Amino acid sequence: MRVPVLAANWKMFKTNREALAYVREISTLARTVSGVEVVVAPPLTSLATAVEAARNTVIGIAAQNLHFEKQGAFTGEVSAAMVKEAGAGYAIIGHSERRRLFGETDQSVNRKLQAAIAANLGPIVCVGETLDEREANQTLAVLDRQVKDGLDGLTAEQVADLVIAYEPVWAIGTGKVATAAQAEEAHAHIRGRLRQWFGGDAADRCHIVYGGSVKPDNIAELIREPDVDGALVGGASLDVKGFSEIVLRSQGKA
Ligand code: PEP
Repeated sequence: MRVPVLAANWKMFKTNREALAYVREISTLARTVSGVEVVVAPPLTSLATAVEAARNTVIGIAAQNLHFEKQGAFTGEVSAAMVKEAGAGYAIIGHSERRRLFGETDQSVNRKLQAAIAANLGPIVCVGETLDEREANQTLAVLDRQVKDGLDGLTAEQVADLVIAYEPVWAIGTGKVATAAQAEEAHAHIRGRLRQWFGGDAADRCHIVYGGSVKPDNIAELIREPDVDGALVGGASLDVKGFSEIVLRSQGKA
């Protein structure tokens, strides 16, 4: 049984002080919920603060990105070992904003994934098609490429421990959510490919979460789908009350 994962991606929002207040509040809520895993991904400047505030709670903390090299002359970047040492348990990799705005490719996603795994971080790796690709009936082919190239070289055991976030680019920050049927079609397809490429155990254990304009009023419908194992939430996660509501409404799936 896959325990649903609900992850809050704050992107470039919240100061250290705001992060502290938020994580304290969500930690209190998390004590009252069961059967879900809650993860918060603050900006790097608040990573250590969030880790400290989440200590002795069930909240996991994620970095939003990392560099695949161990160290070097890469101004502005941080390595997997650095975010691990700061206390993160997870790392978001290959978010569509990183791909679109910062030139990330399936190949760099693969290198980051390998670096995260080597540092013992739980990767949350993002895939998803653009609107043009969907309209050209390319959705499943794009997912195949992103999953095949992104996960290249991983073992079945490593794939089993992954969180894959299916995030249709046209649904991110647009208010346009995929229908539950569209999400399930993509998730089931990805799981089928994992089964084909990495075996049944990896496919059954890997979490595939949905991202794209998730809100308190649509989470229940999405998470009801058999292959939707949680959500990666951007905009609606910035308000702790809203994200708490999403967590509460996703309970009962397990
Ligand atoms: C995201 O940033 O991963 C995301 C899904 O954003 P939003 O929920 O705002 O669409």
